[in-house]
Amino acid sequence: GIKLRKLHAVTEVCSDYTTSPHSLRLFQWNILSQALGKENDNFARCPEEALDWNHRKYLIVEEIIEYCPDVICLQEVDHFHFLKHVLETQGYTGMFFPKPDSPCFYIDGNNGPDGCAIFFRTDKFELLRAETRILEIWRIQSNQVALLMILKVKQTGQEICVVTTHLKARRSALLATLRNEQGKDLLEFVRQNCGDRPTILSGDFNAEPAEPIYGTVLGSGQHLASAYAECAGNGWIPSDKREPPYTTWKIRDEGEVCHTIDYIFYSKNKLDVDGVLELPTEKDIGPDRVPSLRYPSDHFSLICDFRIRTHSSQAD
Ligand code: NDP
Ligand code: CA
Repeated sequence: GIKLRKLHAVTEVCSDYTTSPHSLRLFQWNILSQALGKENDNFARCPEEALDWNHRKYLIVEEIIEYCPDVICLQEVDHFHFLKHVLETQGYTGMFFPKPDSPCFYIDGNNGPDGCAIFFRTDKFELLRAETRILEIWRIQSNQVALLMILKVKQTGQEICVVTTHLKARRSALLATLRNEQGKDLLEFVRQNCGDRPTILSGDFNAEPAEPIYGTVLGSGQHLASAYAECAGNGWIPSDKREPPYTTWKIRDEGEVCHTIDYIFYSKNKLDVDGVLELPTEKDIGPDRVPSLRYPSDHFSLICDFRIRTHSSQAD
């Protein structure tokens, strides 16, 4: 069965997972686009200073490198060159795929479009192939994208497939239907490119677990499960498969928004979950929620430790 545990404290964590060729630490985060966060989101209780790029950029980098992830999946990236420059000094390289008509373009003083990015450790992986997709709804291109990488673990030759996406935002029955259509297109993209490689599909799906897209992913026939839900027995809900209570928590003029819309899905027949990083508590987060001077995004980062099954353990 799955061995459940929380990730240890930061300092001791960096050796285990980053050195073993049979494990993979995946980091998932919607970092909040600088242009959208400052000009579009209208976070009601967020201090102005917290949205200043010169304040946020250090917190973002710190949060990413704190746990020495092997692979980093990000959404709402509108400072890719900055992140690439900094992360290269930490042993990573990466790729960016922008949204075709990013809402950032319509903001004065924007830093270019926002989009998805994947970074990986160059000492551990070789990039074999990268693919991008503008997600389609009923065969028509939408404004949402996906980025996919096939990475080879240098030490073992094992290939893995990592995919990240950021689906259409906002709540309505129609939008839930559109997200589900984007999800179907995404899963076809995954099926065609990942094949039978161990696959990790992470992102901001903008959909609570009750939305159709969640069931579409789990029922795709591609053996995908949600890492946090599989670990719930060790965390928030005893012996039940449940997502965490929130992955984003913000206050807008309309009120408080606290729900789970970000996920790390994985091939449950090829990868085992060793642990996940718990979400900050309500007390950690504070009464004004996020973003705040302490948390640079309105989304929280997710981290999952995966063990890559060997052929002998797959036969068990
Ligand atoms: P989405 O609906 O997917 O949302 C874009 C961004 O807005 C996401 O990053 C989302 O963040 C964020 N968001 C979600 N809810 C809110 C909210 N209540 N208030 C503010 N921001 C929110 O947009 P699309 O990519 O499909 O692009 C459409 C948008 O692009 C339009 O809404 C428009 O603003 C802009 N646009 C403007 C044009 C113009 O002429 N001015 C023309 C074309 C596009 P998260 O995912 O974290 O929820
Ligand atoms: Ca956002």
